[in-house]
Amino acid sequence: MATGKLIVFSAPSGSGKTTIVKHLLQQEQLNLEFSVSATSRDKRGDEVHEKDYYFLSLDDFKSNIKNDAFLEWEEVYRDNFYGTLKSEVERIWKKGKHVIFDIDVSGGLRIKRKFPEQTLAIFVKPPSIDELKIRLKKRKTETAEKISMRVAKASAELATAPLFDVVLENNILEQALENAETLVHDFVSTT
Ligand code: 5GP
Repeated sequence: MATGKLIVFSAPSGSGKTTIVKHLLQQEQLNLEFSVSATSRDKRGDEVHEKDYYFLSLDDFKSNIKNDAFLEWEEVYRDNFYGTLKSEVERIWKKGKHVIFDIDVSGGLRIKRKFPEQTLAIFVKPPSIDELKIRLKKRKTETAEKISMRVAKASAELATAPLFDVVLENNILEQALENAETLVHDFVSTT
């Protein structure tokens, strides 16, 4: 099977990684396609099935685990499962494109371990935990309880930054976008 590269973006929720990933997807010369994850969580706002996520029932998600259909999966929050289907990566590689992931820290590191040479694992670092709280509140998509849960998890995730290939600081968004573009460009250009 034709294989391409794997670009992993992992970070605490609210660190701005989704904005960075979306920006990179617009850069046609990078030849990237987004890996749509599967999840058992409820659809939020204007999210679209098969575009933002494959929204699966908890039962369907669990049968995919049993059938070894996932490259990696994680119970990111209780009863909220997330995972990368093997078929998703194969679908993108078949098109001759590189895969870009927006996934949690453990999932990102698992992909790096499975494909050490082909993967560039980037950790996006928010300015501070306080700033992270502000960003999550501004998003207005989650309850106060869910925000606290995400903030608690973020503190633990920050400690894993040194395990990634690169730590990308996201203090000034414009700068982070430019740095991300250079990093990915250099990685996909090397054979
Ligand atoms: P959200 O609910 O905000 O869309 O995502 C919650 C967390 O799950 C984020 O940190 C996101 O990166 C992570 N996530 C999304 N897709 C996957 C996946 O396929 N695998 C893993 N391990 N985490 C994922």
